[in-house]
Formats: sequence, structure tokens, C-alpha cells
Amino acid sequence: MASWAVLTEQIVWISPLATGFTVICERCSELGELFPSVQANLSLDHLRTTIECPRGHSIRVERDGR
Ligand SMILES: [Zn+2]
Repeated sequence: MASWAVLTEQIVWISPLATGFTVICERCSELGELFPSVQANLSLDHLRTTIECPRGHSIRVERDGR
């Protein structure tokens, strides 16, 4: 029933050497948030993570160029 949530999952690609980054939450952006950015960290030995924006939207982060 709620499977559309999977289809609309946000995926953000970060550069191969990025360890700290800021991403834009598209969901918050759609809701009219003025500053929909989320700061996160990912150590170099990890290829992906999932973060949550302050409003609870999940954002998948994938490291580019493996
Ligand atoms: Zn959000």
C-alpha cells in the first residue's frame, strides 16, 4: 500500500573522496523549507549510508566512482 515511498526514495551521490558533505532534502524543498539542507559525514571506507533530515525524510547517500 505504501510502496510508493520506496519509489520516491531520495538518492544523493557524493564524490569519491568526500567525507563531510551537505545535501538538499528534496522533500523539504517541495514543502517550501527555506533551507532544506542536511549535513552528514561518511568515512572513506563506506560506500553508502542513509541519513535523515530534521523533518524525518530519509535520504540515501551513495559514494560515486567505486
Ligand atoms: Zn526533508
